[in-house]
Amino acid sequence: MTKLIKRSWAEPFKIKMVEPLKMTSKVDREKALKEAGFNTFLLRSEYVYIDLLTDSGTNAMSDYQWAGLMLGDEAYAGSKNFYYLWDNVKKYYGMPYLVPTHQGRAAEHMISKILIKAGDYVAGNMYFTTTRVHQELAGATFIDVIIDEAHDPQNLHPFKGNIDPQKLTDLIKKVTPKKMAYVYMAGPVNMAGGQPFSMKNLKEIGGICKKHNIQLWFDATRATENAYFIKMREKGYEKKTVSQILKEMCSHFDGIWVSAKKDLMVNIGGILATKNKHVYEEARNMVVIYEGLHTYGGLAGRDMEAMARGMEEMVSFDNIKARIGQVEYCGKQLEKYDIPMVKPFGGHAIFLDAKQFLPHLKQDVFPAQTLAAEIYADSGVRAMERGVVSAGRNQKTGEHNYPKLELVRLTFPRRVYTQAHIDVTVESIAEVYNHRKKIKGLAMIYEPKYLRFFQARFKRL
Ligand SMILES: *Cc1c(COP(=O)(O)O)cnc(C)c1O
Repeated sequence: MTKLIKRSWAEPFKIKMVEPLKMTSKVDREKALKEAGFNTFLLRSEYVYIDLLTDSGTNAMSDYQWAGLMLGDEAYAGSKNFYYLWDNVKKYYGMPYLVPTHQGRAAEHMISKILIKAGDYVAGNMYFTTTRVHQELAGATFIDVIIDEAHDPQNLHPFKGNIDPQKLTDLIKKVTPKKMAYVYMAGPVNMAGGQPFSMKNLKEIGGICKKHNIQLWFDATRATENAYFIKMREKGYEKKTVSQILKEMCSHFDGIWVSAKKDLMVNIGGILATKNKHVYEEARNMVVIYEGLHTYGGLAGRDMEAMARGMEEMVSFDNIKARIGQVEYCGKQLEKYDIPMVKPFGGHAIFLDAKQFLPHLKQDVFPAQTLAAEIYADSGVRAMERGVVSAGRNQKTGEHNYPKLELVRLTFPRRVYTQAHIDVTVESIAEVYNHRKKIKGLAMIYEPKYLRFFQARFKRL
């Protein structure tokens, strides 16, 4: 009798160079945690064993990208790496105009300054930390118009990154189209748990914006993952390539900003690209003040070369499948221990539901911040808070913003960790879950004015 043989899949690459990790004891980690004010952003990475803080700039470049570094044309103006990058921006995103920046938030800064007048509104599919700060600093009020399902961690809607057309229409009517600086979509939506939007929704939102003559912009930082989800989940896209879907997505937007530290698998870099000649002229002028000449935007020639090459690799179906497959593997293992998580599993990360993990803690004592600290103490795995600390304070009342989602994010750098690292992570979280009832919350003892989650300090209650 022939037995049914399970067929596994594995990554489409192998390891060529290794970076040794320091092994720490529980005593070492308790000391490090105290020094870091129980904020995983303030830990020295040397004391981190498995670093799931972020997938931003932490990816492993390919040999092809590393080889590109040697071809850096470090001319002050007109570097050939810039022109190669520009060609690839046209080829993969379909945007004719490019302004490079040193990272994503620099592009957000410029686009906010260009499109926003004081008193304007910006609508989007949930907020992102740096994006919203730049919108607010430019004088806008940000309004979240994502579908309600996105705020429910257990809702299995396949496109929880969608914008609610009714919410958007109502908002435009209320504030008038003139006061809408722009609408933006991110995909997948980080703060919702890495949830994608559908092409159908994008077309509908694009239609609404066109009708009212409002610009629609795309935070395309993880756009290839959104394209992958469309391919896997949306009817009519099964046979299209990631590259074709990405280009179709971009065709509905006036412009994009990108943190190249994610999809493009480099350590630094950003992009502002658009079809809008006026915005381009403004950005090209502005970049000289804040970043550098428009042909390098705060980057070295070699960085632009690595970005251009990363763009060619980012649309590989097998690469994205291995990446999202690793996230899914982690989620499925955690499920075996009944760990509460956001579902469906996201593209770049697993989000633990800290409200359910630590139901005895009120949001005032920062359950997600607490959980991230406890996981580090247990095993040296570093995660990040995405809850009340990240949500900051209400600009008018000064109160904490209390988001519905109180999450701990385990973010997977691309092409960096093995399945065994994932197993170690899962077992550590299961261990913390076992003794969760003994965990008390934290008190904030230092709070910076902007993006407080990066530098706030806490102590155990
Ligand atoms: C990382 C990120 C940004 C900001 O980019 P940086 O390169 O970190 O400045 C903006 N939007 C999204 C969705 C991101 O993930």
